[in-house]
Amino acid sequence: MIVKKDVIMAYVLKNAISHKGKAYSGAVISGLFNEGLKKEDVKKTMPKVQEIISEISKLSFEEQEKAFEKFKDLISEREIREGLPELPDVDLKKGVIMRFAPSPSGALHIGHAITACLSYDYVKKYGGKFIVRIEDTNPENIYPKAYNLIKKDSDFLFNKEEDFVIQSDRMDLYYSYAVALIEKGSAYVCECDGDEFRDFAKKKKNCLCRIKSIERNIKDWENMLNKKGFGEGEAILRFKTPDALGGMAHKNPAMRDFPLARINETKHPRQSKKYRVWPLMNLSVAVDDIEMGMTHIIRAKEHRDNSERQKMIFEVFERKFPWTGFLGRIHFDDMELSASQITKDIESGKYSGWDDPKLPTIQALMKKYKPEAFWRFSEHRGLSEVDKHLQKAEYFRLLDEFNK
Ligand SMILES: [Zn+2]
Repeated sequence: MIVKKDVIMAYVLKNAISHKGKAYSGAVISGLFNEGLKKEDVKKTMPKVQEIISEISKLSFEEQEKAFEKFKDLISEREIREGLPELPDVDLKKGVIMRFAPSPSGALHIGHAITACLSYDYVKKYGGKFIVRIEDTNPENIYPKAYNLIKKDSDFLFNKEEDFVIQSDRMDLYYSYAVALIEKGSAYVCECDGDEFRDFAKKKKNCLCRIKSIERNIKDWENMLNKKGFGEGEAILRFKTPDALGGMAHKNPAMRDFPLARINETKHPRQSKKYRVWPLMNLSVAVDDIEMGMTHIIRAKEHRDNSERQKMIFEVFERKFPWTGFLGRIHFDDMELSASQITKDIESGKYSGWDDPKLPTIQALMKKYKPEAFWRFSEHRGLSEVDKHLQKAEYFRLLDEFNK
């Protein structure tokens, strides 16, 4: 059977979107077998596939995503529901080490569950370790009750099989990596104010702090840690983007000497006043992923730049960056899915608590659903970079189906 051009187009776009805009003819052909392609017709079909690949490679990633919306219904249900696709680079003897890293702004809701359970599904499939890591190194953005709430939700969603880690308990580790980066000439203490630095970055120029000696940087770092040294906003630790990658002229402005740690005197709900220098997410995340031996990461596609930054930190320590898959967003048009907004509404009395049946929180849903329902929803959603709109009713219809 000869597969229609539009169907080939759908598979090419689907493959391109899941591979950073580049489609692979082999993967497209294997998808087309689901659409009735016969082995003896592969030779005839291949040139068509390659022609369409070269056509769509001229489109930007956003244009590809848009085009896929038009063609995606041509992909048969069977292909979509095939279950979890294999991850690349899996050591089948050791399994995988994966993580879910919520910030402590409230309890978990279905948006968290969709992402987290996909990683958990893979740990169940291959064996290995699943880590829940609370990212609380910004002392200003913490809802103190979130620690216990997230633990309770995690125990339910992940069958108590998760390792539970709190970043602010690991500060000494982040400090030791900060010093190691300075000693390797890959970080420096920058005293420019924010606007000044942004101007340097725009003009692709180095600020004067960039050429300080390692000894001077170590002293300045100690002055960041010391209460009598720099004040808030007076100094920041920056990554020194390798000159081989363009340094301050890196083609992506977001990669130019990004910040690693800053001074913030705000009292931390868990650590109180013990620390005044806090790692920013690219430092703490890279350090933890190195130390925990992360093998695979599934994260929201908004984190693409952060992944690239963290990869540069990995390279300083000559460590292999974990395989990373990016997930598109699910937009619920008729449901509030912001942990901090839900927190506000609970504190103000609009809802009776985190388990108020009107809320899309795990605490409300655990009364009705088994954790398997959430695992299977994630498996059904799969590893797709395409954004999706979903209505509340449709989500719960699926969850009911998966709860049987
Ligand atoms: Zn500077």
